[in-house]
Amino acid sequence: MKKITIKNTKTKIKVGKMICVGRNFADHAKELGNEVPAKPVVFIKPASSIIYSGEKIIQPKFSDNLHHEVELLLLIGKDIKDANIRNAEEAIIGYGLGLDMTLRDIQNEARKKGDPWTVAKCFDTSAVISEFILKKDYNLTLDEEIILKVNNNIRQKEKLNKMLFKPIEIVEYISSLMTIEKGDVIFTGTPAGVGRVVQGDVLTASIGDILELNCEVI
Ligand code: ZN
Repeated sequence: MKKITIKNTKTKIKVGKMICVGRNFADHAKELGNEVPAKPVVFIKPASSIIYSGEKIIQPKFSDNLHHEVELLLLIGKDIKDANIRNAEEAIIGYGLGLDMTLRDIQNEARKKGDPWTVAKCFDTSAVISEFILKKDYNLTLDEEIILKVNNNIRQKEKLNKMLFKPIEIVEYISSLMTIEKGDVIFTGTPAGVGRVVQGDVLTASIGDILELNCEVI
């Protein structure tokens, strides 16, 4: 069973499903040759794909193009369905930082064939998550920068307010599609600068000075 740790506490929360949004930064949609969507693109990662900061990403043998995608994560604190803006806002109880590791070669094949992205997105170690901070302890303004470095070189760096769909809108929209439950985590999409990593690369990421993670590819 995978659990989220709340920063500076002993509180642990069991993770349910992880719902991910794709193409939520215009520059990233363009760099992969995609249109900017009218509605968020939605897919799922299983909790079994989680590793924690400090652990190792294992590149699967069936791919040779492993990409990093750094993202703001939302922690959901209550069950909601067909939420309005106020309910959506109340349902978000915390924030985290994550890597949505993606097998870009497999994903590109799937896109061509119209197949689902499951193999490209759900492999073990494909979701790296930080400790989370509770919303009551930190007011996220979206002026914060999200940054990913590989071997200390900046690859992704963007203000969170460049998101096309903001956290509350994402939660409201997803809740119109499916029930979001307490313990679910939402990946809010990655900014431009995604790229390949290989064995031995060290990834470090941060949001402002409140959230950070690191991991190595093996
Ligand atoms: Zn992503």
